[in-house]
Amino acid sequence: MAETDSRPTNFIRQIIDKDINEGLHTKIQTRFPPEPNGYLHIGHAKSICLNFGIAQDYQGQCKLRFDDTNPEKEDIDYVNAIQKDVSWLGFTWDGDVRYSSNYFDQLYIFAVELINKGLAYVDFSSQEQMRELRGTLKESGKNSPYRDTTVSENLALFEKMRDGKFKEGECLLRAKIDMSSSFMCMRDPALYRVRFAHHHQTGDKWCIYPMYDFTHCISDAIEGITHSLCTLEFQDNRRLYDWVLSNISIDTTPHQYEFSRLNLEYTVLSKRKLIQLVEENRVNGWDDPRMPTVAGLRRRGYTSASIREFCKRIGVTKMDNMVEMSMLEACLREELNADASRAMAVLEPLKLVIENYTADDVENLTSPNHPADESMGTRSVPFSKEIFIEADDFREEANKKFKRLVLGKEVRLRNAYVIKAERVEKDEQGNIITVYCSYDKDTLGKDPSDGRKVKGVIHWVSASHGVPAEIRLYDRLFKVPNPAAEEDFLECINEESLVVKQGIVEPSLVSAKHSAPIQFERTGYFCKDKDSQDDKLVFNRAVGLRDTWAKMDQG
Ligand code: ATP
Ligand code: MG
Repeated sequence: MAETDSRPTNFIRQIIDKDINEGLHTKIQTRFPPEPNGYLHIGHAKSICLNFGIAQDYQGQCKLRFDDTNPEKEDIDYVNAIQKDVSWLGFTWDGDVRYSSNYFDQLYIFAVELINKGLAYVDFSSQEQMRELRGTLKESGKNSPYRDTTVSENLALFEKMRDGKFKEGECLLRAKIDMSSSFMCMRDPALYRVRFAHHHQTGDKWCIYPMYDFTHCISDAIEGITHSLCTLEFQDNRRLYDWVLSNISIDTTPHQYEFSRLNLEYTVLSKRKLIQLVEENRVNGWDDPRMPTVAGLRRRGYTSASIREFCKRIGVTKMDNMVEMSMLEACLREELNADASRAMAVLEPLKLVIENYTADDVENLTSPNHPADESMGTRSVPFSKEIFIEADDFREEANKKFKRLVLGKEVRLRNAYVIKAERVEKDEQGNIITVYCSYDKDTLGKDPSDGRKVKGVIHWVSASHGVPAEIRLYDRLFKVPNPAAEEDFLECINEESLVVKQGIVEPSLVSAKHSAPIQFERTGYFCKDKDSQDDKLVFNRAVGLRDTWAKMDQG
């Protein structure tokens, strides 16, 4: 098992330790707040592991709350997919799934409270006017002409907003804070806007929707969240988070802490870009095994333990960084090297005939499922006169470095006999189509009796027993380490990110489970794809046996 036992330490856990020691909190409450406008990706997994991991380690609780204030972009399919992914990652949320929209009634009342306190107003300025008055980072903003509308008038206007009396874009409810603040988010930010949109949870009840900054802090407070963890782009917005909570009548005061987003090389982790890949059919859906989504990784053959381990290894800091793909792969490889059962599959079949083997004989050879773990048992692998080997495991001539089958030389067939290549048959183009061999019948499970040394071992599948299988080999989805930094990230898609082989696999793989990754000896870790049917097996390569990327980066 690759998962390390030790608890992670990071600056957020240090803050929590301090809060507990000082008696500020007795029970830690966190939340994971996805917006249901796309599938979860590996960056979200970092946030999930952080929020749920803290709740677990401190005997607290973590809620799953959909941040659903943007009905036009959201969808119930995303709501369902996100729940599935969080569960698959191994976490259980506290109580029912929550939605920010559960609190729309309360949010409305808090907005009215702000208006009553003279801290919010309805603004009819045009977008252009508002932009002009907003100022810039260097220049202070200016007050809107609607800023001094009376409380009673604002109350009436806000009610009219709610009752659908204004058009989309005609007006906004804004907080009255400070147009000269050095934090742009404090220059009278919008709290509510008009949207005549059907909502996946509240239907057509509302035609005004609260903005993220207003909604998030209040939802946190209602749920009794103690530590509200988000990514660094919300650092400035913490002022607004605190401003809202300190100006409404609510008891608990959660605190927001920010950490850096996960960036992963050779992929993109922005939902907007991922949606583009899906909608423009650059990939085959959200769960395409090349996607950095949780669903894609799962389909590819990643285990939830390997993703949790990855999230543990990358840690949580405030530093922006770019994590190497090989780090994610290493977590899977380490786990599967220990846990995956072995099988044989030939990706590029070359026929091999053992001439001195009796034509009708079939031997069921007992093969261990794991070379180092007897507890994983054995399986029976049929051996016969005609087998397939990997085309590039045979050469007519080769130097000593080539430890596979060479004409006139010997090699061991994995878990079977030593064979010698005697001659080849070629087609008209000169391609080798069959290798004719002899075998040494006294070499099953032992070395040749006369002391001949046979170094190489190759894998094979019996021709009459093997089962055809489509084998999908994946590479990085993008050709450059940071596609998001390119002018057009779609231009850098790696056209060879999916290579399909028509291979032959040993018959035991017909009953392989989808969720159980297997090591195909000498070729990598694979899992059965959901496209598999009884008469057509499909396997995905999750990861190779070795880290070939590190080498590619240098070359
Ligand atoms: P995007 O910017 O791609 O649209 P998002 O941050 O808007 O993503 P949300 O659904 O709002 O996506 O994210 C839910 C939670 O996951 C948030 O707390 C967010 O900070 C966190 N999160 C999103 N992306 C990452 C990432 N790359 N690394 C770590 N945490 C992330
Ligand atoms: Mg967001």
